[in-house]
Amino acid sequence: MPGPLRIEFRRYRLPFRAAVRTAHGVWREREGLILRLTGENGAIGWGEVAPVEGFAGESVDEAEAVCAQWAGKADPAQLAALPQTLPCLRGALAAAVAEITPAAETDAAPRAVPDYLPVAALLPAGRAALAAIGPKADAGFRIFKWKVAVADPADELAMLDDLCAALPAGAKVRLDANGGWDRRWAERWLGRSADYPIDFIEQPIAPSARGAEDVLLGLANDYPTPVALDESLSGDADIIRWLDSGWKGVFVVKPALLGDPSAALGRLAAARSAVVFSSALETAVGARSGLQMAFRWPGEARALGFGVWPLFSDPRCDGPAAAPFIRWQDVAAIDPEALWNVLS
Ligand code: MG
Repeated sequence: MPGPLRIEFRRYRLPFRAAVRTAHGVWREREGLILRLTGENGAIGWGEVAPVEGFAGESVDEAEAVCAQWAGKADPAQLAALPQTLPCLRGALAAAVAEITPAAETDAAPRAVPDYLPVAALLPAGRAALAAIGPKADAGFRIFKWKVAVADPADELAMLDDLCAALPAGAKVRLDANGGWDRRWAERWLGRSADYPIDFIEQPIAPSARGAEDVLLGLANDYPTPVALDESLSGDADIIRWLDSGWKGVFVVKPALLGDPSAALGRLAAARSAVVFSSALETAVGARSGLQMAFRWPGEARALGFGVWPLFSDPRCDGPAAAPFIRWQDVAAIDPEALWNVLS
């Protein structure tokens, strides 16, 4: 473990280029903290605290108050003792500390990383998706993500045939209902999906729905199309709980929301779970940490949910632009110091 650390942080409030619509309303700007840790040997590590409303985790104010208490200095034992109620800060610190820990002190040998990973293309909701497929297919995307449960589910289901007919050969669609269906609609969609190249259906019913856990487990067992959990995974504890329940579907993991990413990912890897790494609409600093985890993931490489950039009004805050692939060299080339300087 490294000795005493110098800890600096900068709070940001960054407008999105275009407002983002979520289940919690319209999101116009992103707030968070960038952490800069300096070890005794002068090595610098980076982390980002970027909580998302509706998921477990502290507010930016809470994380900032803790960082301010340290007055610029802390030792790793103090950081490791942070409570579970601060998952985003714990995760950000874990990423930063790992970066300044000499390789000899980590138990695992560095994994060979792939040169690139595929990225899922985001389609607009509704019929607009049909016109969007062609250009994205021409650009090279083969995994497409379509938001459903936005309009009448019967109308959307009628569109599924046209949507799949518009796909290039070998392509697949991920349907993300964001918890917007009830059990009956989820069953109808899953029943129909067996005839189509559906990669998975994400969060068919809301985690708050009555008996949601049993319903989701039942849906995952009863249909050939895989079911993915997203909103049901609010943090590390949920991942462990679903693993313990024997979940055989997909885990959509937002690394930015994990308090102890290496433990959670270690459990998922040991269970040979299907994992899709996904953005929490963080800046390039958090994206860099999350993408590093995705590139080091030992399981099957599924298309990343990181096709979000350009995202911010100030493009200097963005990660690698949405392309059919993210290259490791582009992740390695992200310069946190440049973003740090933008925020000064
Ligand atoms: Mg989702």
